[in-house]
Amino acid sequence: MTKAEQDSLTPEQVLQEFKEGNQRFNTGNVTQREHSEEIRKAVTGGQFPKAMVLSCLDSRVPVEDVFDQGMGDVFVGRVAGNFVNTDLLGSMEFACKVAGAKLIVVMGHQHCGA
Ligand SMILES: [Zn+2]
Repeated sequence: MTKAEQDSLTPEQVLQEFKEGNQRFNTGNVTQREHSEEIRKAVTGGQFPKAMVLSCLDSRVPVEDVFDQGMGDVFVGRVAGNFVNTDLLGSMEFACKVAGAKLIVVMGHQHCGA
């Protein structure tokens, strides 16, 4: 994603993209991705993620996969129990204020052991 593409997004559009991506994940219809190509694109032009997701540490909840997002699309902050502490709050501020993310998602999940 370029800065211009990121700038053109609204929080509502990003939320809708995440809902649609989650629908693809739930139906086994996720986007086929070439990670080597995504890495080359991601490292050359800076990072302009759409959103910041605060998620649990749980290994069964891979955030990018759950929302069918690609490399560079999402900042992910993870801690057992998906709660905010000072470090994560700073990361969320960086994601939005400095890097321009449009949406913050606090994502819980079922069967959390934390
Ligand atoms: Zn959990």
